[in-house]
Amino acid sequence: MRKIVIFSIFILFIINNIMAQENSRPSHHLKDGTFTNTTGISNNKSYKEIYNWISDKSRNKPAPYDFKIVSPNFDLINHANKSKNVTWIGHATFLYQNQELNILTDPHLTLRASPFSFAGPKRYTPPGMNFDQLPNIDVVTISHNHYDHLDIKTVRRIAKDNPEAIFLVPLGLKKWFLNQSIQNVVELDWWEEHVVKGTTITFTPVQHWSSRTLFDRNKSLWGGWHFKNKHHSLIHLGDTGYTDDFKEINKRLGSVDFALIPVGAYEPRWFMKFSHMDPTEATQAFIDLNAKKAIGMHWGCFILTDEPVTEPPKLLKDAIVYKSLPEDLFITVSHGETVILD
Ligand code: ZN
Ligand code: ZN
Repeated sequence: MRKIVIFSIFILFIINNIMAQENSRPSHHLKDGTFTNTTGISNNKSYKEIYNWISDKSRNKPAPYDFKIVSPNFDLINHANKSKNVTWIGHATFLYQNQELNILTDPHLTLRASPFSFAGPKRYTPPGMNFDQLPNIDVVTISHNHYDHLDIKTVRRIAKDNPEAIFLVPLGLKKWFLNQSIQNVVELDWWEEHVVKGTTITFTPVQHWSSRTLFDRNKSLWGGWHFKNKHHSLIHLGDTGYTDDFKEINKRLGSVDFALIPVGAYEPRWFMKFSHMDPTEATQAFIDLNAKKAIGMHWGCFILTDEPVTEPPKLLKDAIVYKSLPEDLFITVSHGETVILD
């Protein structure tokens, strides 16, 4: 009898422990160790659907375009304590200087956004800065592990050139960096923050997904990076579909001085809407964030989707006018262009 009582207490203890773990698990952490969005809805496109879309012969394949490349403002870049500025290197890659830190977002400075060196989306606009033109880098942020945002050759080179640089990455991605012998890595869950030299850097939710192979879908997280120091605040949204997360970011972190918002890779909508905003949705994101100014990114570099490559900036202008906003609040810039953040 005594044995039965002890055994029952033991079982109850185990059940209680399991339930406590379940209750303490954030809702975007799934039981199987993968992650989901704040809505609880994950990207449901199967690899077969992705393959069928990519290999569809009737698909509109946009042509590359010879975009203007301008020289970055090296006078400002090399005297970083003079100003707060961003330089668009291309796609989601910016050099961001906030008077205290030199930050690189989603650095990609090589030829392809692909697991292969011989195939996959090829860069048709050269990077606005090359490796030798970059100043010392203090912080690298990675929004998620898709190949157009996490380039193995680029991060290896940046780590080699900047042994002190800190790589801030989504939860679940640190191991990948350690496997590349990049040791100075901090992985963050949504709403966690890391402070570097007076800048508080917070990882925020967005609506997207992750994958680098056929077997690792959503095993690491995705998100945006919010930076705040005594001078100002800036957010880089990485890759995202339109989501109420933007309102929540505004609620928790306040209005943002400057936002880097993706505006490209949105066609066909039936396929891309979940993961990528079109310019109209990006304009709503700008409003939801209560951002003072923004630059549209994630266009003009790799052909990933079906819209003409010159379309995102045009549709963005239309969307801004439609919302009766001043045109200079949410702009696109040339590759290599340096924008002063004042
Ligand atoms: Zn992505
Ligand atoms: Zn992307």
